[in-house]
Amino acid sequence: MHTKIKELLQFGTVGAQVEAKGWIRTKRINKQVIFLTLNDGSCQQHLQVVMTPSDLPKALLNQLATGASIAVSGSLVASQGANQSIELHGHQLTLLGNAPDYPLQPKAHSLEFLRSLVHLRFRTNTFGAVFRIRHAISYAIHHFFHERGFFYLHTPIITAADAEGAGELFRVTSLDPMHTAKNLDGNIDFKEDFFSKATNLTVSGQLAAETAAMGLGAVYTFGPTFRAENSNTTRHLAEFWMVEPEVAFNNLDDTIALAEALLKFLLAYLLKTCPAELEFLNQRLLSHRNKEDKTAPMPLLERLNFVLEQPFARITYTEAIAILIDSESNKHGKFAYPVTGWGMDLQSEHERYLVEHHFKRPVVVTDYPKAIKAFYMRQNDDGKTVAAMDLLFPGVGEIIGGSQREERIDYLQAAMQSNEIQDLDWYLDTRRFGTIPHSGFGLGLDRFVLFVTGMENIRDVIPFPRTPGHVPC
Ligand code: ATP
Ligand code: MN
Repeated sequence: MHTKIKELLQFGTVGAQVEAKGWIRTKRINKQVIFLTLNDGSCQQHLQVVMTPSDLPKALLNQLATGASIAVSGSLVASQGANQSIELHGHQLTLLGNAPDYPLQPKAHSLEFLRSLVHLRFRTNTFGAVFRIRHAISYAIHHFFHERGFFYLHTPIITAADAEGAGELFRVTSLDPMHTAKNLDGNIDFKEDFFSKATNLTVSGQLAAETAAMGLGAVYTFGPTFRAENSNTTRHLAEFWMVEPEVAFNNLDDTIALAEALLKFLLAYLLKTCPAELEFLNQRLLSHRNKEDKTAPMPLLERLNFVLEQPFARITYTEAIAILIDSESNKHGKFAYPVTGWGMDLQSEHERYLVEHHFKRPVVVTDYPKAIKAFYMRQNDDGKTVAAMDLLFPGVGEIIGGSQREERIDYLQAAMQSNEIQDLDWYLDTRRFGTIPHSGFGLGLDRFVLFVTGMENIRDVIPFPRTPGHVPC
């Protein structure tokens, strides 16, 4: 029975006879001694393995190289090295799988290069850290909601509804593209399709979650979401993961408080449970920073603690526009998208100005013009704005979008009409039968992982990124 390296490093006692298994990261060898660093993915740290070369057949020695997998048994001894307190003096070594022409070298590769090898990048320090952190966040999300009496709801991946009414859908069909039946008007006859109607991959689980909240009270979805938007940015994926709580009787203030509590819970959890991963990423960023620019943001760990400790700022959209119009960046024409005035959609550069330059902490922007927001958001008494909220983070911009939902059926139907949304009769039943105020939001998991890891491209925080023109594997 072998023991995970994480356990050996944490609990291993000097003198214990153990077996470790893993992949060789580095090898150093001289006449008397061979040093291997071994990693099995269980933690950030490597186990140092020390052996005598003359104990090993020469053919085997040559195969002990970066990327090869081995099993080593031996005894734990106190380490002379500065990096670890314990190391393994191997008595017996078995080569499990050699790795000739392994493309990863024991040095830092560029992220672009590793993006061309997404199936191998799990074996690097950086991506090991990122994906252990991504796991910890996912686990903590379930923990947070479970502790608060929410029910985890599995909403469908294949739907017949477009939650935003915005298009950008991936069609799901079993029709043969070469021989597709057409109606008399020349359109595709979806009656012939698998579900007898047009279907697509979900862009949000919200509408389904709303129906569940009407019976279960507080629910959350946590699953993959698909958008065929041609946004070739460092913040957009075609397939991303979203967390969407929906809560009966919550108003906009309640949902903002829930969002802030969730994000701070996750930060505190990570600082407690992933110190080695965060410290590694912190050092990684510091070493990059020295080389390049002096205006780089504060170090990662400082940034996480700062966001954890600060109350989030809160302003209305109308106030945000006033701040942006007045900003030096706007006056000096520094924005790629000029601030044209009330009614415009905020671009990512505007969001980041508010967060990084004006407030210098996370910002919640509320009460957007109804014309730029989704049909289901509750209309405010001014008749122009809706009870929406976007939560903006440093470095990332929008991380959460949410709202109080329109519970008045006549307002909702009017909004659906002006957004040309049909076929949602089942959704309207939430308002027909026992309608109530309720609220929810969508947290982009990948964007949050981007923030906490300090990575710069969303393709580097999801294991297998899907972006326009690109499905690596
Ligand atoms: P953006 O304006 O940045 O495209 P959005 O307004 O379309 O975002 P929502 O529809 O409110 O976003 O979705 C809720 C959350 O899901 C966003 O706050 C963001 O964190 C995340 N998100 C949205 N689109 C994407 C995407 N293409 N890739 C990754 N995350 C996304
Ligand atoms: Mn979008």
